[in-house]
Parts: sequence; structure tokens; C-alpha cells
Amino acid sequence: MDFELSEEQKSLQILARKFAMEEMLPEVAELEKRPDGEDKFAYDLVKRGAALGFHSLGVPAAHGGDGASVLTQCVVVEELSVGSPSVSKVYSHNWKAIAGLIAVATPEQLARVVPAYLEDPLYCIGIAITEPNAGSDNALPFDADPAAGPALSAVREGDHYVLNGMKQFIAMGAQAKYVTAFARTDRSVPWTKGTTGFMIFPPHEGFEAGRLHEKVGLRCYPQHDLIFRDVRVPVEDRLGEEDRFQEGRRSVTNVGTVEATATSLGIARRAHDLALGYARERVQGGKPIIEHDLIGALLLEMFTRLEAARTLLWRTAWSIDEGVHDQKLARATKVLAVETLNYLAAKAVEVWGGMGVMKDAPVEKVYRDAIQLYHMGNTNQVNVLKALPHL
Ligand SMILES: Cc1cc2nc3c(=O)[nH]c(=O)nc-3n(C[C@H](O)[C@H](O)[C@H](O)COP(=O)(O)OP(=O)(O)OC[C@H]3O[C@@H](n4cnc5c(N)ncnc54)[C@H](O)[C@@H]3O)c2cc1C
Repeated sequence: MDFELSEEQKSLQILARKFAMEEMLPEVAELEKRPDGEDKFAYDLVKRGAALGFHSLGVPAAHGGDGASVLTQCVVVEELSVGSPSVSKVYSHNWKAIAGLIAVATPEQLARVVPAYLEDPLYCIGIAITEPNAGSDNALPFDADPAAGPALSAVREGDHYVLNGMKQFIAMGAQAKYVTAFARTDRSVPWTKGTTGFMIFPPHEGFEAGRLHEKVGLRCYPQHDLIFRDVRVPVEDRLGEEDRFQEGRRSVTNVGTVEATATSLGIARRAHDLALGYARERVQGGKPIIEHDLIGALLLEMFTRLEAARTLLWRTAWSIDEGVHDQKLARATKVLAVETLNYLAAKAVEVWGGMGVMKDAPVEKVYRDAIQLYHMGNTNQVNVLKALPHL
């Protein structure tokens, strides 16, 4: 296997690295300081990144995008996430959402979203699955109880469906110009047999983004409640057949998992770089702390784990590009990357000593960002349980 990136991949890597370090990193550090309740979305940065090509990069060429391979997407997302996982996630979440839509939408439905997305650098897409009482149950169906899973209801009335209920923690819920929402069309059966996808184009009567959930990390990547009050959706905005949401979802699982893995890797690299830089500068005991064996060994351990996670991610991405959809590989890679990330983030704080927890130093942010990834691209427990049957 050839681990050398192509010239095009290397150019994109350099472009993303420059944008990440020179623009994303300093600007997001300031935006994040805005108080809770205030909009912290990096509109201007997102637009400038779009002008460099990151908005369209992961959209398939057949649909008008740049059609970057999954491996190329991973290389770029890692670089961008070193600068700001909040902003990087805006692009990669949108690519994932479009991949999901392509799996289930008709050409007419796609024509209402993808061209508009490509024309508008601030076009964001919401994927609305999670609800207050339905988190992991949406990924690990608990079929013994039809009450488990999504409760947002969709009732057919003539040529419309009427949606009532709410979603929770929906990324970019207030920014989204299009939302894919999953609702129960049959409450008498387990949710996997009675859930349907619907297209919502805000502003839409009865639909609104509710509370902004303030987080300790990824503060410029917002999550909102979405409220549905008698939201009338025409039948032509139903995605796929009624009650069949689960079928289209399966085909894109690996792409979504890999996207969160690449984000984890970028934050992990930031932790590694900060620890290494500080250990070379900080003098105690008459020499830079990297020359103390215990700190040196710790830095080598961080390097080893980072390289191992990247190598596995590239292998997974490469296999998806080759048409192999190996769920256990993609999910195992996400688990490894998140554990690697949280190990590196904690150790970076340790290497920085007391400065590691000070708000005016950069490391504590890495630690706060790192824990977010436990809950994105599925939890570790969900990924393990979904990988196990494929062993
Ligand atoms: C930054 C961020 C962005 C998000 N973006 C979106 C979004 O855009 N759209 C969206 O729909 N959702 C989104 N979410 C929600 C996310 O998908 C859920 O938080 C996640 O699926 C976990 O659900 P939960 O929070 O309800 O945890 P729970 O399901 O309550 O799980 C709690 C713990 O129990 C474990 N657990 C649960 N069930 C089992 C089981 N059967 N076996 C073993 N262990 C189990 C879990 O692994 C976890 O450790 C986002 C969350 C975050 C933090």
C-alpha cells in the first residue's frame, strides 16, 4: 500500500493547514469567548473557507461538487480541525448530510437542495434524529418496545403530513436552510418499521429552532432544539417510502463515522503539537522538560498513538474509496480515534503543568473540545455494539 498522498491531496492539505492556523485558530479563540446565549457561529470564516473550496469539496462530482475521495476529505478535515473543529464540522457535517440525502432522495428532491447548497456558502443542513427520550435508541433499536425511538409524529392528512413534537441537540438547527427530520408514521410497531424521513425548508410555518444548548467545547458549532407545531409537509417532501427511513440510513453509516473520526484526529494533533512545543520550551531542573525521561517517554507515547490512529483512519478511508463498506473497521477506527484524542488531550494538559488548566493558555480548550467527540458519530458503546456482529 502506498501511503504517499497525491500532489492534489498535498496541495489541499497545505491550503487547509494555512487557513486553519492563520485564520481559524485565532478568530475562533475570540468567538468562543462570547457569553452563553449569544450566537457564536463563525459566519465569516465559514464563508471564507467556502471560497477556498471547503464547502463543495465533499459533494460528489455527479451532483456538481468537487467529488473529493473519502481519504482526501479525511486529510482536509484533520487539517481544518487542528485550527477549529467547530468550523471544520460545519463543512464535514454538510457533506455527510448530502451523502445521506443522495441515498434516499429522488432527483427532483435533490435538485431542491444540492444546487442551492453549492451556490450559498452559508447553506447549512440539519439532520434531526435525536430527541429528549431517544438518543442511542435511534442507533441501537430497542424493538421490544414500540414506545422506544423517535416520538416526533407525522400523521397523514390528504396530500400532506402533519408533524408534531421536538428534536434535541440538532447541529446548526438555527442556521439550517434545509433539515432532514425523522418522524414516526406508525407508533404501533417498533420505530425501525414505522419511521419516515421528511424535508423541511425553513422558514416553515409551525417549525422553529428553539433553545441553543451551550456546550463546554466546540462552542462555535451550535446545537439547538427543533420545535414542530402542526408543521404541514407535502407528500412530495417525504424521503423514500413511508415507514422506510432505516433502509436509506444504512448505506451512509461509514461516511458519517469516518467524518467524526477525522475531526477527532485533528484535535488530537493539536494536543500533540501543543505538548511537544511546550516541552521543548519549558525549562525545569536546568533543562527543557522534554529532556526529562518521563516527559520524553510521554511525548513518544502521544506520537505513537496519534500515528496509529491516523494510519487506521487512512486505511478505513481508502477501503471506503475502494467500495468496501466494512462497518466494524469504520466503527473500530472511530472508537480508537476518540480514545486516542482524549488520552492526548489529558496528557497535553499534564505536560503543560498548571498552565494547562489556565483559560489564557490554549490547552484547556483542546480538552473541552475532545470530550464532545464521545457523543458525535455515535458513542463508543454504540459503535462497539454495532461492530460486534461483523467480527
Ligand atoms: C456536539 C454534538 C452534536 C450533535 N449533533 C446532532 C445532530 O446534528 N443531529 C442529531 O440528531 N443528534 C445530534 N447529537 C446528539 C447525539 O447523536 C446524541 O447525544 C448521541 O446519539 C447519544 O444520545 P444521548 O445523548 O441521548 O445519550 P444516551 O443514549 O442517553 O446514552 C448515555 C450513555 O449510555 C450508553 N448507552 C445507551 N444505550 C445503550 C445500550 N443499549 N447499550 C450500551 N450502552 C448504551 C451510551 O453509549 C452513553 O454512553 C449531537 C450531540 C453532540 C454532543
